[in-house]
Amino acid sequence: MRALAKQSPAPGLDLIEAPVPRPGPGDVLIRVKRTSICGTDVHIHKWDTWAQQTIKPPMIIGHEFVGEIVDMGDQVVGFAIGDLVDGEGHITCGQCRNCHAGRRHLCNKTQGVGVNRNGAFADYLCIPATNAVKVDPDIPLDVLSCFDPLGNATHAALQWDLVGEDVVITGAGPIGCMAAAIARKSAARHVVVTDVNPARLNLAAEMGSITTVDVTKDSLPTVQDRLGMKEGFDIGLEMSGNPAALRDMIDNMSHGGRISLLGIMPEQAAIDWNKVVFNMLTLRGIYGREIYETWYKMTALIQAGLDITPVISHRLNCTDFAYGFELMESGKSGKIILDWEN
Ligand code: NAD
Ligand code: ZN
Repeated sequence: MRALAKQSPAPGLDLIEAPVPRPGPGDVLIRVKRTSICGTDVHIHKWDTWAQQTIKPPMIIGHEFVGEIVDMGDQVVGFAIGDLVDGEGHITCGQCRNCHAGRRHLCNKTQGVGVNRNGAFADYLCIPATNAVKVDPDIPLDVLSCFDPLGNATHAALQWDLVGEDVVITGAGPIGCMAAAIARKSAARHVVVTDVNPARLNLAAEMGSITTVDVTKDSLPTVQDRLGMKEGFDIGLEMSGNPAALRDMIDNMSHGGRISLLGIMPEQAAIDWNKVVFNMLTLRGIYGREIYETWYKMTALIQAGLDITPVISHRLNCTDFAYGFELMESGKSGKIILDWEN
């Protein structure tokens, strides 16, 4: 089979010929149809410090995908050959206290598909059946291949009651844009998205009724004035990973405001903790998705008309992966889909 792999501890990726994996007793074998490129894959491609510390080459990468079950182990129940499935990329231990309590997203021994074990950028992928998620075949394949990051956006946004609230999202990357659409769909009052990249703000504007702010030219206080807001944002979704954006958010929250922290900050990101204390802000770290409540919620949102297709900027053949990574690194793309069916 074809597979996109990190072959040696150096920058770059190679499209290689690899053996089709064989499912163990509890595994499903999936014929991959579409994948999408995540920021994590870009880190692995670039071979930055995080990648050097985390990835053990040779390894097939990728974790955002949709495909069809073509084989399975003899202990698998509840799936059939031909089922269209996504995959939860966090393979949990099943043995720790959180796993036993059904809080699998809080497992402390999680293994990442395409990060700690072979991934989905290949013609075939083998994962435990407990990580396969049957999906609605009426949802377009391109959208289904983005369910992993859509899950991050959903998990972060739905931590809080959004109805009637003023929401600020820092970072108009694919996840920030999807979160903006979710906030809109969830009947937030104002949805304001900040970025420093005009291309990304244009993407956010396409999600419908979103106020975009280029923080290099405009500021959140003036935007609040323009919108007639008087007391600050009720909900903040930090999706940039930039400390300046987080500080800007904290400065513009209402007293009692609630913040989801999804963006991965560099070390030593400083904030004014007294603003958290005196304004009684709630900060909540967000990781991955809830297994499987987030999958349920995002499916229901899409079925109810949530449209994330504006975020998909490119559809490429898997053999054109190098161009896809180049686009991702340029910051001028949204989600990039790789097609493995031809
Ligand atoms: P992305 O890098 O594509 O988007 C981040 C955006 O933030 C970019 O458009 C960038 O221009 C913008 N930005 C930079 N500085 C800014 C500033 N000062 N103010 C406002 N915006 C600014 O990332 P993404 O794929 O959309 O993911 C969003 C974040 O979430 C990233 O930090 C990513 O690493 C993180 N992430 C976390 C999890 C998790 O489980 N916690 C999962 C996936 C991604
Ligand atoms: Zn566990």
